[in-house]
Amino acid sequence: MRKKILVTGGAGFIGSHLCEKLLQQGNDVVCMDNLFTGQKDNIRHLMDNPYFEFIRQDVLEDVYVECDQIYNLACPASPIHYQYDPIKTGKTSVIGALHTLGLAKRCHARILQASTSEIYGDPEIHPQPETYRGCVNPIGVRSCYDEGKRMAETLFFDYHRQHLVDIKVIRIFNTYGPRMRSDDGRVVSNFIVQALKNENITIYGDGKQTRSFCYVDDLIDGMIRMMNSREDFTGPVNIGNPGEFTMLELAELVIRLTESNSKITYMPLPQDDPTQRKPNIDLAEKELAWKPNIGLEEGLVKTIDYFRTIIV
Ligand code: NAD
Ligand code: UDP
Repeated sequence: MRKKILVTGGAGFIGSHLCEKLLQQGNDVVCMDNLFTGQKDNIRHLMDNPYFEFIRQDVLEDVYVECDQIYNLACPASPIHYQYDPIKTGKTSVIGALHTLGLAKRCHARILQASTSEIYGDPEIHPQPETYRGCVNPIGVRSCYDEGKRMAETLFFDYHRQHLVDIKVIRIFNTYGPRMRSDDGRVVSNFIVQALKNENITIYGDGKQTRSFCYVDDLIDGMIRMMNSREDFTGPVNIGNPGEFTMLELAELVIRLTESNSKITYMPLPQDDPTQRKPNIDLAEKELAWKPNIGLEEGLVKTIDYFRTIIV
């Protein structure tokens, strides 16, 4: 049956892929976004679909949309964007969660929170299982995002316990793919744009820090599986690709795949930059029968193809 689904942050990188997939599956999708980091171009191809609606609205305003399911993605995700106005970032996570949870309560809708591996901070346990409680600096430059997302998780579980709201929480690890902005500032888009322009590749620190990169199609599959999982499975559940790479390895791979003349240059490491990150995805495999299918090289080729079309 056609479901009415609200996607906050639906004009962003991940949100636009999610809206597209939900429409393909025959749903009625409302995308709510304030276009802070999202773009109309990301959803332009959906605008003619009668089952798609775009509402330009901030999640800090009251949200009234009759719906069966809510995906709450509204929040800038790139460090440069979430640190641009950190107070607003904190508000977006916390007040955005309160507004969407209130809506879920009133509509009896199921609600999924796009949480993050950042709630583990700079982890002392490797790889990170969902039971690990994290090592987060509460007063650093990343805290507006990390602690905002942690508080949002708290609110989700309190609404679940106190008001029996049907919640789902996923912790997303670094995800990349087409429709990332060229000025997004995250590592995959930065390296690809620099390589395609034959500019220096900017490695922060010594490049030995690690991340695990998930291609966006794999993430969307995991997200939708989680939303439609059995009622008593709330998560949190890690969704990410366990392949682990240093930033130096990533830079070398991007240079090879783009056949670029770029050279590597080293810049200072930002404050509180986590040294390593890799998801333990046993829970997702067990509960959602989910695991990623697209390796880094394959995903990078698709992403590079996209950036070639937008970089002149
Ligand atoms: P993005 O910046 O492309 O998307 C975020 C969207 O939210 C944008 O369209 C933006 O305009 C919108 N938004 C921001 N503040 C808003 C507000 N106050 N009201 C309404 N809309 C608002 O980033 P993304 O990578 O697509 O991330 C989407 C979600 O997934 C975010 O919640 C992010 O925290 C989470 N996440 C992403 C990653 C990743 O690697 N991409 C990792 C972990 C978690
Ligand atoms: N990074 C880098 N060069 C860049 C952008 C990022 O070396 O041009 C590093 C950054 O310091 C971090 C890693 O790449 O160690 C991932 O950064 P990103 O901002 O993509 O995500 P996050 O730190 O939130 O995982």
